[in-house]
Amino acid sequence: MNTNRIKLAENIIIEGEIITKTGLHIGGNKDTLHIGGLDLPIIKDSATGKPIIPGSSLKGRMRSLVEYSRGKYDLYRGEGHPHGSREKCTDSNCPICVVFGSIKNPNTYFTRLIVRDSIAIDDDSVDTELKMENYIDRLSGKAGSPRTLERVPTNTKFKLELVYSIFDENKDRENLRIIFESLALVEDTYLGGHGSRGYGKVEFKLNRITRKKAETYKSGNEGEDIINSEEGMSIAEIMSSEEYLDLIGQD
Ligand SMILES: [Zn+2]
Repeated sequence: MNTNRIKLAENIIIEGEIITKTGLHIGGNKDTLHIGGLDLPIIKDSATGKPIIPGSSLKGRMRSLVEYSRGKYDLYRGEGHPHGSREKCTDSNCPICVVFGSIKNPNTYFTRLIVRDSIAIDDDSVDTELKMENYIDRLSGKAGSPRTLERVPTNTKFKLELVYSIFDENKDRENLRIIFESLALVEDTYLGGHGSRGYGKVEFKLNRITRKKAETYKSGNEGEDIINSEEGMSIAEIMSSEEYLDLIGQD
């Protein structure tokens, strides 16, 4: 038997905001939330009632966009799948699988990236808007009955928090760029539903990137701020900063 001791080197904590630039719709459960003829409600935090962007939604979107971008997306076309269905990645050296997690990749003993649920930041409450959407039934070609869609309005801010763990000093550090690359891809496309019809444009503003080495946890130390910006930095600004290049091991 081959054993390799693995050890956490550090956690990188990335904090900031997700700001909606158009209406955003991330669907909730319409079985439990059927209020006043609302056909397609958005998902909300059960404790506070505030809109949320589930970590799984953002993470899934980040992953599939970076997979497309790096040519890792295998499409299977065949019976019952006229538009193609997604094949699971089988590349055992795939860095995207290491970052986002995969049961097939032997290097993913520990999923490196955690994406927390993002809850809307507000002083009072976020008023969602309702939009009537007509849709065309693809099979009959006829207009279906209009549906009422709930969405988060433009300029709503959500708290963003990502935690990235570095084990392997070289590859994991270098792979940190996959996160920023995928966030940039989300910005230039969309998040949530109905994106090709104009929904879900978002912008990321990062306020803080903190490095916590494994040793700092023993002392309860707060770690070292790599970036600390009250007004927030864009993904492009972060990626061209010296602090970022140093963090991913490039100078
Ligand atoms: Zn992969």
